[in-house]
Amino acid sequence: MILLDGKKVSNEILENIKDKIAKTNKKIGFAIIWVGNNDASSIYVRNKLKKCEELGINGKLYHLEENALEEEVISLIDKLNKDDNVNGIILQSPVPKQIDIINCFNRIKPEKDVDGFANLSVGNLCLGIPNHISCTPKGIIRLLEYYNIDLEGKNVCLINRSNIVGKPLFNLLISKNATVTMCHSKTKDIKEFTKNADIVISAVGKPNFITEDMVKDGVIVIDVGISRIDGHVIGDVDFTNVSKKASYITPVPGGVGPMTIAMLFENLLNTLKEDK
Ligand code: NAP
Repeated sequence: MILLDGKKVSNEILENIKDKIAKTNKKIGFAIIWVGNNDASSIYVRNKLKKCEELGINGKLYHLEENALEEEVISLIDKLNKDDNVNGIILQSPVPKQIDIINCFNRIKPEKDVDGFANLSVGNLCLGIPNHISCTPKGIIRLLEYYNIDLEGKNVCLINRSNIVGKPLFNLLISKNATVTMCHSKTKDIKEFTKNADIVISAVGKPNFITEDMVKDGVIVIDVGISRIDGHVIGDVDFTNVSKKASYITPVPGGVGPMTIAMLFENLLNTLKEDK
């Protein structure tokens, strides 16, 4: 069994990004909008800002109150869209319920949409003309490529159909000539699909969702899920037992999570090639 070491791969990518930033005379400005006080978001936002400092990126947090209105978020996005010193804008999810997150994502100028969540970014990806690709799907593909895992002709069972993970990832996988079965909460007998898959990608958010009996020998397993139990982060996969059958498997933590971060900063670096 080979561990798909996202932490190691992401460190290499980030080192490379840091070098490129140090060599350019252009400044990268990154705006993070955070509405409310979600605990997990506070960790994610802090980590992103810390990473900005390490990489030499001008990261700035715009923290709005829990009761902020959608119009306030939209007007902030409009201001940041016009600011030539801002290359990338993200809106940290989740947002309080009075805000329609899709409306807000769609307001971000496509070239500054470094999370790749806006309709245009997702639509362009479906059409095979991607600009910024959303970071988790992009990070999964990059991790497989790093380990020379060819997707052509592989049967992939993807368990997730969300806008930020499943839908963009489905499109990336088929663009690499994989055959993809997309499962979700209404799928009958998931095991029937996982058992026949060369690659199982699980993004459900339920611990021990993927067990040893659900996969075939030699399977490649990508665990996207994140659950927090007693302060520990755990994935969807019963790692101890599934890893005995797997040829390659991601750990949690240290697999897909760090790749997601690396891809965000790669998208930011790529904004330097575009007109702002
Ligand atoms: P989400 O929108 O809640 O999607 C969860 C998906 O799992 C949905 O498609 C849902 O089906 C499906 N599902 C739920 N219960 C199921 C069941 N019993 N059987 C089969 N499918 C089931 O969440 P998300 O934002 O896509 O994130 C998914 C997970 O990935 C979460 O744990 C999240 O924390 C994690 N995540 C990790 C990273 C990372 O960087 N590592 C990044 C993003 C997300 P329906 O569509 O039918 O509801």
